[in-house]
Amino acid sequence: MASRFDTHEVLNQSPPFEDVDLFACDRPLQDAVAGNGAGGDAKALSAFGRHWGRAEMLELGRQANENPPRLRAFDAHGFRRDFVEFHPAYHVFMAESVAAKLQVSTWRVDGSVAAPPAQVARAARFYMAAQIETGHLCPITMTRASVAALAAAPKLAETLMPKIAAREYDPAFRPWPEKKSVTLGMGMTEKQGGTDVRAITTRAVVDGEAWSVTGHKWFLSAPMSDAFLVLAQAAGGLTCFLMPRFRPDGSLNGVRLQRLKDKLGNRSNASSEVEFTEAFALRVGEEGRGVATILQMVQLTRLDCAIASAGLMRMALAQAIHHARHRAVFQKPLADQPLMQAVLADMALEVEGAIALVMRLARSYDLAAQDRHEAARARFLTPAVKYWVCKTAPALVYEAMECLGGNGYVEESILPRLYREAPVNPIWEGSGNVMCLDVLRALERDQGAGREVFAALVEEAGPAARETAAFIEATLAGAEHEMRARAAVERLAVLAAAAALRGSAPQPIADMFARTRLAGSRGMFGTSALAAGDAATILQRALPS
Ligand SMILES: Cc1cc2nc3c(=O)[nH]c(=O)nc-3n(C[C@H](O)[C@H](O)[C@H](O)COP(=O)(O)OP(=O)(O)OC[C@H]3O[C@@H](n4cnc5c(N)ncnc54)[C@H](O)[C@@H]3O)c2cc1C
Repeated sequence: MASRFDTHEVLNQSPPFEDVDLFACDRPLQDAVAGNGAGGDAKALSAFGRHWGRAEMLELGRQANENPPRLRAFDAHGFRRDFVEFHPAYHVFMAESVAAKLQVSTWRVDGSVAAPPAQVARAARFYMAAQIETGHLCPITMTRASVAALAAAPKLAETLMPKIAAREYDPAFRPWPEKKSVTLGMGMTEKQGGTDVRAITTRAVVDGEAWSVTGHKWFLSAPMSDAFLVLAQAAGGLTCFLMPRFRPDGSLNGVRLQRLKDKLGNRSNASSEVEFTEAFALRVGEEGRGVATILQMVQLTRLDCAIASAGLMRMALAQAIHHARHRAVFQKPLADQPLMQAVLADMALEVEGAIALVMRLARSYDLAAQDRHEAARARFLTPAVKYWVCKTAPALVYEAMECLGGNGYVEESILPRLYREAPVNPIWEGSGNVMCLDVLRALERDQGAGREVFAALVEEAGPAARETAAFIEATLAGAEHEMRARAAVERLAVLAAAAALRGSAPQPIADMFARTRLAGSRGMFGTSALAAGDAATILQRALPS
């Protein structure tokens, strides 16, 4: 690509990475989809990948993030509006994701679970959408996950499901019964405690057939959702409630948006601070069972955090490989320089592991209803997978940024946006330490099932897993197991990734991952012992040249 300026000709700049089929150019994704039972969906996934990979979508992603939402707390006369205004580009993404049913496709309209491979097929789409615009996926993931909590209130679920399942996005700020479709959010975190939900001070009292909720939430994302699943203290203990934006009489509910968070990334999405002033709410599940009820939802949003982080890594990797193939240094493409090959291939192998792992986990969700072992696998591995995949993303995105040199650090490239976005997934829906403690807690609660899952992973990962398996066992059995939980959970996730690759990737790829991640210890990207031939194989799969 060359173009003439007055003073010089522009040479050796890589063309934009756009107008690509996000599915067809991603062999690890295709293999993970096929290996986890969704190969029959390949044609539709390719259509989705082509649509989302258009230059126009990338441009809309930029616009949605460079024009963050604004709070309109009052109208011109001082009356409360509690309205958040979004850039039109944000609404385009919402409409696209709702049309693709990303907010509901793992459920039937009666609220029961959809048949396999609904989870894997959706995960593949969610992963591709995350590569283009991640902020809007917050209300999308919360809406789909809310259905799991609503199962505790079948009558409510029955009335809401047709609106959740509708394919026409309706951004109107109106009472939900008047709308074509709805989205749902979630409110747990308060000023004095996020992890420690038992510290919640928001109170709920019975008010006729319904409840009246007073208090606050320190983080409430997607505040333009039509309703929220909220935790509050009732007489019988912490309880889950559905709190709509409007009361049944059509007046604005007591959901007062105080201000929007000024966030590092995730800028297309709004996250608010909110006060509840005798807000109308309906109980979801039994009084005092709020944590158990909302955890059904949180488990699914954690899965989506991991899928989205894999998507962020994928886009960063694709940008890096694409650039390296088009940029020459010392008369030779960067992609042909051995040290750059080592860096790119190491990153690509990590992304291979992440993709295989999240798709295998989605498969467990697909099978959980009919297979006790898969249900246990989903339970034990979700926090470990969220921990490892989400925490890997910031480092990998940074490394990809460096592959683009100075251009990677500049806003016109997508890398700064991916980089700012990456740390949110490890923090929300339970931060890193909390994920590790969750794994310990799940193992303590059901040691037998935990052992079965672990034994299956070791078997699937093959002989290279022996040392890692021994380390995990010894660490978890040790007196200081809580202190060492990160080391054990990280190794557990890597073990699960190695096992997942054995199930879906070609053998040489699974072997390389096991050799460099299980048997060997790895430093920064580019330090794995990969031969030149290995690197070429990995990179050709990651992005066909
Ligand atoms: C952009 C954004 C949007 C959000 N949106 C929402 C939302 O819509 N709804 C909602 O309810 N929340 C939301 N959150 C809140 C988020 O879920 C919490 O911030 C998160 O769960 C951590 O809680 P906290 O901030 O209170 O930190 P704390 O609970 O104080 O935790 C601080 C740190 O301590 C660690 N820690 C906690 N307990 C232990 C322990 N026992 N041992 C060792 N370490 C521990 C944690 O891992 C964390 O790293 C959002 C957060 C962000 C950043």
